Amino acid sequence: MNTSATQKMDIQKVESSRIGQVDFDNLTFGSTFSDHMFECDYKDGAWQNPTIRPYGNLSISPGAKVFHYGQAVFEGMKAYKDDQGKIWLFRPEENFERINKSSKRMAIPEFPHDLFFEALTTLVKMDKEWVKSGLGNSLYIRPFVMATQVGVSASPSTDYKFMILTAPAQAYYTGDVKVIVADHYSRSANGGVGAAKAAGNYGAQFYPTNLAREKGFQQVIWTDDSEHKYLEEAGTMNVFFRINDTLLTAPVSDRILDGVTRKSVIDLAKHNNIDVDVRPVLVSELVEAAKNGSLKEIFGAGTAAVISPVSAFSHKDVVYELTKPEDSFSTRFKKELMDIQHNIGEDPYGWRFEV
Ligand code: PMP
Repeated sequence: MNTSATQKMDIQKVESSRIGQVDFDNLTFGSTFSDHMFECDYKDGAWQNPTIRPYGNLSISPGAKVFHYGQAVFEGMKAYKDDQGKIWLFRPEENFERINKSSKRMAIPEFPHDLFFEALTTLVKMDKEWVKSGLGNSLYIRPFVMATQVGVSASPSTDYKFMILTAPAQAYYTGDVKVIVADHYSRSANGGVGAAKAAGNYGAQFYPTNLAREKGFQQVIWTDDSEHKYLEEAGTMNVFFRINDTLLTAPVSDRILDGVTRKSVIDLAKHNNIDVDVRPVLVSELVEAAKNGSLKEIFGAGTAAVISPVSAFSHKDVVYELTKPEDSFSTRFKKELMDIQHNIGEDPYGWRFEV
């Protein structure tokens, strides 16, 4: 597979920035985009014409394969500005590797490493005013790839478009999350695409998540597709369970996304001498622990909200409430992760990457 880029990056700057029109105190997550975007096409077996240009609409044939077969993958990452005005990414190599892993699973050609980093850093630097300092503020970065070959034959596209958009994101308090443990619908299956950030994985969750919302729960904790016996992950977050003082989380597999926040939490926990058990976690164990009082915390871990504490879960229409303990692991991990991301204090793990 040819993953070489054949040309120098073409850079077209906006005539005047839109930044003055943006109310940075009232942002809706992921819906205001910065001035520029990156675009690169794959054709004749090579990635070509890497371009940064003003953010704007695309012109794509309605016959493009992405619209018919959903051959598309994406990533989600963030840039943070510290109090000295320096900009940092958090473990960007992980996102780079993951988008190519997702692409491979979706028969999309991989994207070249150096071009990914050149595009990412040039774009973030060009729109650096859109990254606001302050704990929790960030620039959300959305790389994605779509199949652009025209033709409705059900076969992999010969042409693709790789893009990066960036969107300022505010520090936000999501509130505690209430979740339903899935006992009918499934997000992914063995041998399927659950471990890929394939666009269709997300669309497929909307209907069952809407059903959960109608019952007053914001998210679903997905279980294994065959028996709904094991706890897996939430819609856009991996999940952790604290039973007594042990932290439990499912191992990654074909069905579970290998989250960057998840692997960072596991490392933080180990560094803090907390017992971490990465193993299949039974729904029945969770219910039992909730009943006997040993279930102390459940929290989600993902780029968007970093850590989201769960205040209640429902299983087979029985609701189990949780009270956050004083020595909450979720509060501690959130602070430690955010401090590293925002360049406050040490980074003993080498996770920060200066732009
Ligand atoms: N699981 C799923 C299904 C996700 O979409 C995400 C968000 N990328 C996560 C977990 C968390 O991954 P990360 O920590 O890398 O954002």
